[in-house]
Amino acid sequence: MTGKGQLLYKKAKSRIPGGTQLLSKRPELHLPEQWPSYYSRAKGVDVWDLDGNHYVDMSFNGVGASILGAGDPDVDAAVKAAIDNGSMSTLNCPEEVELAELLCELHPWAEMVRYARGGGEALAVAVRIARAFTGRDLIAFSGYHGWHDWYLAANLAEESALDGHLLPGLEPKGVPRGLLGTSMPFRYNHIEELETIVAEHGSALAAIVIEPVRRNDPAPGYLEGVRNYADRTGAVLIVDEVSAGFRMNTGGAHLLYGLTPDMAVFAKSMSNGYPMAAVIGKAGIMEAAQSTFISSTYWTERIGPSAAIATILKHRREDVANHLIDTGKSIQEGWRQAADSVGLKVDIGGIPPVSHIAFQYEESQALSTLFTQLMLERGFLAAKAFYATYAHTGNHVDSYLSAVREVFPILVQTVDEGSVAARLKGPVAHTGFHRLT
Ligand code: PLP
Repeated sequence: MTGKGQLLYKKAKSRIPGGTQLLSKRPELHLPEQWPSYYSRAKGVDVWDLDGNHYVDMSFNGVGASILGAGDPDVDAAVKAAIDNGSMSTLNCPEEVELAELLCELHPWAEMVRYARGGGEALAVAVRIARAFTGRDLIAFSGYHGWHDWYLAANLAEESALDGHLLPGLEPKGVPRGLLGTSMPFRYNHIEELETIVAEHGSALAAIVIEPVRRNDPAPGYLEGVRNYADRTGAVLIVDEVSAGFRMNTGGAHLLYGLTPDMAVFAKSMSNGYPMAAVIGKAGIMEAAQSTFISSTYWTERIGPSAAIATILKHRREDVANHLIDTGKSIQEGWRQAADSVGLKVDIGGIPPVSHIAFQYEESQALSTLFTQLMLERGFLAAKAFYATYAHTGNHVDSYLSAVREVFPILVQTVDEGSVAARLKGPVAHTGFHRLT
């Protein structure tokens, strides 16, 4: 029987190109024709679909946004107060200044802050400021930084330039060809690739944009090397904390690694499910925002900053980062033991709060689709990634791992029998949101 979610998704695709606004929320990426697709209610890590089925979210948790869990009572109380006091006015909301003070207190190297509401949008703001400050055009980057022209321009040069960073085969249609050669990628932990870019374009580099950590920890000397190249070339070093921030500490992961950037960008997890993004930076650089035009009406509304202040204060007060790390470590350990006990070949990695598992078989993608299908039947949203939240309890972890211990032997059995595809109720999940670097 087709669920209401799948039926609605079919309708959505006729009205909304791609069906949804975020690639990673496409049901085809998880469990084609079976994924519940829409929620009627989400609270903590509990999710109810349109048919009233209940699931425990052991997968993406708002694609990384719900760091405290959906509908956190403290954040929601702050948001409700912001609504009651008026979410928009001709005048500015004081929470903007309070949040700026808080972000600069957490990151003592930063002195000024600008806001947006989405991560990719905030990265575009940061890149604009860096270009305005340096008077240069070129960007060297590593990792995923959103959908904007400055980033996709990398694929004008070579269709596969971004393959190792996010989306294999990503087409830069609609990005002006005039941007050809303005954005150059290098792979995480491959400082020699940045060195090559610097050797050729060093004096024209406006910014070096990196994620502080990805699936792997920074190799010794990598972050120092990046900082060094920024200093030598005069490029602005922008650290993208949209995914890494607030996972292992209250603030940017760069603080943990002793890296002092020139700018850092936050979004998603900083406001627990309410749109908010911040660009923080050294005053001399940030002031260049005044020499260009960066301005938007809804960047002044009150809900985002109110949610961010409540999220960050709770995160710090309740040592949320340690809970995320412990929870992620239990999941990684549980995966490992469950796999070892039945001889399932897996690759487990990622920082514990954002853990990843890959099945090391030729039919890897079919196997992970089957994993998602079998876990869904047991009441879990489960995938190759696990985003820990403050709402995950020991009980959630235990019941999830006990389901994993039921499912892993089935995966081994279907591999042995060559029946993986036959066990699937629908097509194999699409790939297209690779995070390989
Ligand atoms: N930068 C990084 C590192 C991200 O992980 C993401 C989203 O996943 C973005 C930027 C884009 O953020 P948003 O989806 O809010 O535009």
